[in-house]
Amino acid sequence: MPVSRRSRKREVEKISRERIDYLLRLADDVFLEKPARAQRYADLSRRIGMRNKVRLPKIWRRRICRNCKAFLWPGVNCRVRLRPRRQSHIVVTCFNCGHHTRYNI
Ligand SMILES: [Zn+2]
Repeated sequence: MPVSRRSRKREVEKISRERIDYLLRLADDVFLEKPARAQRYADLSRRIGMRNKVRLPKIWRRRICRNCKAFLWPGVNCRVRLRPRRQSHIVVTCFNCGHHTRYNI
């Protein structure tokens, strides 16, 4: 059965998103026991996203350092601070590379 290019693309995106979500949840599960493995899952999910041009879901984007791509766990390898002054924002400090990432709320 011929499949149009557009629906094929949509199918690839859907499967990629599912894989990304699955891998990141797995990374979340194993992080405390096996951080190296969690990092591998996170790298893998990023690669799937890049290859298929799918962005990581918002909730996960903040869990990966924008500078060194480390999988972050608040209180373990990163610090999350709420800054209510001026435009309210969150500052995430990565303990792996020391990078501050700012997110507006
Ligand atoms: Zn970092």
